[in-house]
Amino acid sequence: MGLLSGVLTCLVTEIYCHRCLAHRAFTVDPRLARVLDGFMQVYGGVHPRRWVGVHRLHHRYADTPLDPHSPLERHPLLILVGTPYLFAKARTRLPAEASPAPGAGHVAVRIGITAFWLLTIGLVQTVVAAAAHLVVYFGIMGMVNTAGHRSGTKPYPDVPGYDSAWLALLLLGHGYHNTHHARPGAARTGPLDPMWPIVRGLSAVGLVDLLGGVGQRLRERGVDEQAVHDVVHP
Ligand SMILES: [Zn+2]
Repeated sequence: MGLLSGVLTCLVTEIYCHRCLAHRAFTVDPRLARVLDGFMQVYGGVHPRRWVGVHRLHHRYADTPLDPHSPLERHPLLILVGTPYLFAKARTRLPAEASPAPGAGHVAVRIGITAFWLLTIGLVQTVVAAAAHLVVYFGIMGMVNTAGHRSGTKPYPDVPGYDSAWLALLLLGHGYHNTHHARPGAARTGPLDPMWPIVRGLSAVGLVDLLGGVGQRLRERGVDEQAVHDVVHP
């Protein structure tokens, strides 16, 4: 159960918080957006707007002392296992309106879910499931932030990050990290992006609009890539 919720939280973080909200690669049906918004606050413990704010700090200051989680500026081990700490530090740099805390209702739902598992499967199994959730969620996030800035190829030499395509399958498409920093508004990170079939599936049933992304619309109008980059990173 903890493994499942951990993986699901990673998927929602990557598809909704990262590609849809932070980089405007596509739009999500408002009803699904409300569900995912609540899911992130309950299972991810973070308001999506705060996640977006911290992630945009990463793109704006990538691999400089102001990057919230650069493994070139801080010890890689801290980046790998310290996501909650680094996130808590970075959010203090955001204006209050861009960094809301999870709603009280969502915190209450989280407490209710925990109470339900305590009563049905007991204390030990609940603690094991919660630990599995946190290890999977923060472990994958930490690996994304560490691996993509340490080694690989650089198709875009002037842009931060590295590409290691084989890592993409494991790391939510972030084997193409250099490419992602160069083209952050792209809905698909590369050929081995495991998120792409899910995004395509959501698009096929009308829950994702791939043509609704700002970057896509600008490219269709012939706007050059630098200008697209500037728009998706206000
Ligand atoms: Zn990004």
